[in-house]
Amino acid sequence: MQVHFTLKASVQLSAIISPDFEDIIRKAAEEANNVIFRKGVPSGIDDSEIGRITGITVKENYIEITIESGTYTRVHDALFRFRKYLAQILGKYRVGVRGIEVHSYDITATLDSGVPVPNLSKLPFVKSARNDENKLIISLSLSASDLENKVPDRILRLIEEKAEASQYGGKGEHWDLIFESEQKNRSKKENPTDEMLAKGWIKHGLSRGQWIYGPEAVRLFRAFERLVMEKIIGPLGFTEMIFPKLVPWEVWMKSGHAKGVYPEIYYVSVPKTRDPLFWEEVSDYFKVTGEVPVDLIRDKIDGPIGGLCYAQCPSFWPFLQGETLTNDCLPAKIFDRSGTSHRYESGGIHGIERVDEFHRIEILWLGTPEETVAIAESLHEAYKKVFIEIMELDWRCARVTPWFMAQEGLLGDVKETGTGCCSSIGTTDYEAFLPYNETWLEFQNVSINGDKYPKGFNVKIQSGSECWSGCSGIGLERWTAAFLAQKGLDMAGWPELIKEYAGREKSVFKFC
Ligand code: ATP
Ligand code: ZN
Ligand code: MG
Repeated sequence: MQVHFTLKASVQLSAIISPDFEDIIRKAAEEANNVIFRKGVPSGIDDSEIGRITGITVKENYIEITIESGTYTRVHDALFRFRKYLAQILGKYRVGVRGIEVHSYDITATLDSGVPVPNLSKLPFVKSARNDENKLIISLSLSASDLENKVPDRILRLIEEKAEASQYGGKGEHWDLIFESEQKNRSKKENPTDEMLAKGWIKHGLSRGQWIYGPEAVRLFRAFERLVMEKIIGPLGFTEMIFPKLVPWEVWMKSGHAKGVYPEIYYVSVPKTRDPLFWEEVSDYFKVTGEVPVDLIRDKIDGPIGGLCYAQCPSFWPFLQGETLTNDCLPAKIFDRSGTSHRYESGGIHGIERVDEFHRIEILWLGTPEETVAIAESLHEAYKKVFIEIMELDWRCARVTPWFMAQEGLLGDVKETGTGCCSSIGTTDYEAFLPYNETWLEFQNVSINGDKYPKGFNVKIQSGSECWSGCSGIGLERWTAAFLAQKGLDMAGWPELIKEYAGREKSVFKFC
C-alpha cells in the first residue's frame, strides 16, 4: 500500500516579525528538508517518501506551512521537529514559538489491486473519505494534540489491518497439519446431541445456545476434568485460581479483545439505581401483564459495563497488573475452572459442540519466552498421550493463525524460538473427527501469546527478560461431543479409564 500525507498548519509566534525574517525561516525549512527530516531514515529511501516542507509563508505573527510525506518522517512528526528547530532559531531573536493550528490533514492511500476499499466514514476524526478506484482519499479533522497522540498513525494502521485482513481471508487459510492420529473406525454413527436428548441426558435451557446437563452428561464432564487434573494439570504442576467471569471494558482494552470481540459478546448492564421505587413500575407491569417490559428496563439501566467471560484468561491479568515478578516464581503455571464462558455464536441449530454458554478449563502460564515455549511443548506432549493412550481418539492437530494476530495485524511479527510443534507465537488447534457428519471439530487449543498480555497489563520480570505467556482452553462440551461422536453413548464401547472415572450411569429423573 502506498501512502501520501499532506498537512497544512500554522505555527503561532509570540510577536509580529518583520519581513526580514522570511529569509531565515525559509533557510530553516531547507535545513529541515535536507537534514532534520532525514534523521533516522534508512539510506536509499526515495526523496518523495520522506517528509518535506513544500510551502511556507510568513504572515505577521504566524507561519503558514504545508508539509507532504510518504511513510518516513510523516508530516506530523516533521511538523513537530520543525517547530522545535524553529524555536531554537527564533529564540536567538527573542521570538517565541507558540501553538499549532491544523488546517487540514489528508491521507491518500493507494490500495493494492484486489483489496476492497474499507468504509471509514464513521470513524472519529474522519471529515470525509472517498475513493477514486483503488485510491482512498481521507480528510481528517485533527488538533495539534491529536497529532501528538499519533492519531494519523493509528488510522493508517487500521487501513493496513483491514487490507491485510481482506487478503488473509479467514482462519482456514493458515492451517498447517502437525500431527494426525491413527485413523479409527469412521463408520457412520449418530449425532451425540440427538442421542443424549433422546435418552434424557440433556435438555435445552431456555436461553439461546444453552443446555441443562443431566447427571448422565455431567459424570462425563467430571470424568474428563479428573483426567485433565490427574494426567495433565497435576503432573505438569499447574495450580488452581479463580478468575472473575464478568469482564469490564478495561480488561478487554488491555487484552486487545476490545479491538474486535463485539459481535460475540453477552453484554452486561447495571441498574441506574437500586431504589425499589424507581423499579416499581417494572414489577407492577409484570404483575399485571405477565410480560417483562424490556424497553422500560432499557431506560432504567446503565452500561453495558462490559460482558460475560469470553476467553477466560484476560480476567486473570489484573492480578499481576503493574507488578515485577521475581525470577524464582517463574515460570508460573495456573488454571481456572470456576465458571462458564459465553459467546453469542452464529445462529442456527447446533449441538452441545457450539453453544452460547460453555464450560472450559483454562490453563495459563507465563515466564521467559523459552520457558513459555517449553511449557507449551510439554502440554502438547501430555495431551497427545491422553488422546492416544487413554481416550483412543481419532484426532489431529494443526498450527493456525490466531484470531488476534489476524485482527491486530501482527502477522508479520511471528518469532521462532524453537523447533517443536508449539515453538513460536501462535495457536495449535486440536480437532476430532465426527463420524456423523464427517467433519473435524476443534475441541481445544494451545496458544503462545508472546508478550501480548504482559505488555497489555504491564507485567515485568525481575531479570529484565522479556515476559511471555501462553494459554490452553479445554472445552468440556467439545471434549464430550468429540468423545461420544466417536465412541457412542453405550459405556461398553468406552476406554477403560474413562469408564472408571465416569462411574456407573446414574439417572435421577424418570419421565412418564
Ligand atoms: P471455533 O472456531 O470452533 O468457534 P474458536 O476458535 O472460537 O472455536 P477459541 O476461541 O480458540 O475457539 O476457544 C478455545 C476453546 O474454547 C475451544 O477449543 C473450545 O474448546 C471452546 N469453545 C469455544 N467456543 C465454544 C462454543 N461456542 N461452544 C463450546 N465450546 C467452545
Ligand atoms: Zn486464553
Ligand atoms: Mg468461535
